Amino acid sequence: MHKLAQLDHAHVWHPFTQMRDWLRREPLVIVAGKGAVLRDVRGREYLDANSSIWTNLHGHNQPKINAAIRSQLGKIAHSSALGLANEPASQLAEKLVRAAHLELVGRASARAGSSVASPHLGKVFFSDNGSTALEVALKLAYEFTRRTRAQPVGRASARTAEPRFLSLEGAYHGDTVGAVSLGHIDLFHKSFSGLRFKTDRVMSPYCYRCPFNRAKPERADAREYRRCRWECVDLVEKTFTMQKWKNKSYAGFVFEPLMQGAAGMIPQPAGWLRRVTEIARGHGALLVADEVMTGFGRTGAAAPVKTRIDAREPRFHKRGYGVALFASHHEGVQPDFLCLAKGLTGGYLPMAATLTTQKVFDAFLGEYSEFKTFFHGHSYTANQLGAAAALASLEILKSKESVRARQKLEKTLHDELQTLWPLPNVGDIRRVGLMAGIELVRNWRTRAPFDLRERAGIRVCEAMARRGVLTRPVGNVIVLMPPYCTTPRQMKTIVDVFRTAIASTFRSGA
Ligand code: PMP
Repeated sequence: MHKLAQLDHAHVWHPFTQMRDWLRREPLVIVAGKGAVLRDVRGREYLDANSSIWTNLHGHNQPKINAAIRSQLGKIAHSSALGLANEPASQLAEKLVRAAHLELVGRASARAGSSVASPHLGKVFFSDNGSTALEVALKLAYEFTRRTRAQPVGRASARTAEPRFLSLEGAYHGDTVGAVSLGHIDLFHKSFSGLRFKTDRVMSPYCYRCPFNRAKPERADAREYRRCRWECVDLVEKTFTMQKWKNKSYAGFVFEPLMQGAAGMIPQPAGWLRRVTEIARGHGALLVADEVMTGFGRTGAAAPVKTRIDAREPRFHKRGYGVALFASHHEGVQPDFLCLAKGLTGGYLPMAATLTTQKVFDAFLGEYSEFKTFFHGHSYTANQLGAAAALASLEILKSKESVRARQKLEKTLHDELQTLWPLPNVGDIRRVGLMAGIELVRNWRTRAPFDLRERAGIRVCEAMARRGVLTRPVGNVIVLMPPYCTTPRQMKTIVDVFRTAIASTFRSGA
């Protein structure tokens, strides 16, 4: 075993990993990366098919991001945001506010101000990671609601003393205790139930396994052939209404727009997001969009296909980034809180941001002695190196080459994925923009799932790794989310390796 692997075995505890399994074999020790390729300490190369857990946008060792960090390093690496402003963080905040601005055109603009476009996300609170981006949104929404809600004068106008949040079935918003409280994945969250505060969950539109979908399985994305009456949207409406009757209207509705990641790469059918957010807004709930995975172009640079379900659907301006950088905007939804991390720095450094409105900001203003301050912050808040990397990443996203590369990759990913439908263990292939989930099943005709204990997803990913492609499953769903610089040839290799891995894993029958 390589001595670095030995050191790892001796001392490192890995996240979301059964360490007994980990200690049974020599781990890959990554020492270098370039573009979509990672190299290990033994000189073997691997395609980074999940962008290093969904973080990397433009590839490893990206010259422009490297240069931006080096240049910043020549000035200063870090000074505190507690009491001090700094150069790149101020610039980045302005750029994020611009990127997050949703400008609707056509008929949708007439509705702006009612529900669709109103909030202007003019304020940025920096932190370190996706979980903290959500913690910040949660605390701000909680306190904002407490400070601004109607006083209980009668059933209709009253809210409970404790603002309460609604999130989606299968929700995952991070691992800090607040974020865990918003989560609804028993495998991850149940054991911490004693630490969590109470939140509610509502059905998410998992068309492939939806009890309301009366369609038999087909060899296509279940969103396309589903037969239902949008019962999932009715359930959202019902949940909000019931809560109102109980005099406990929700303070906030927390969601991943267009695609839920850790829930199992669950995409939302066109129109779902707009409808449910209109319901939430109608009931006075703040919209908290977790774009930790979906942000920064992941949902595609090509014109969104079938996103507009009728002519009254919102349209948005194409900006310099190709199509909107944020998933919510694809459906003309502007949240009150936009949570960003992972791809913010192009996948280079741990940095996060929570964007919100002037209205929320104002609720924390007052005389010092009123103690309305937002008492929250992290040592590395607004770190200069991270901000410099993020600024460079935004510049790249704007470039014509990046927009073109993303459009091309989206088409390649789409075309390559189509070749997987003949595989009997592929139940559903779900793609939104530049990310995809392939759900493995025992039998596609019956949708019979594998028991998690069979480790089907893990076994397939291990077989892929042996053939030079790295990704991680979420349960029985294999995630493909390559960096934007991935070439068509590399994409083809990823899908070919997946096919071979499936064949070798299930050779003796599922
Ligand atoms: N939200 C979403 C949607 C995520 O996918 C993740 C991480 N996978 C998080 C929040 C938490 O981010 P982090 O791991 O950076 O804390």
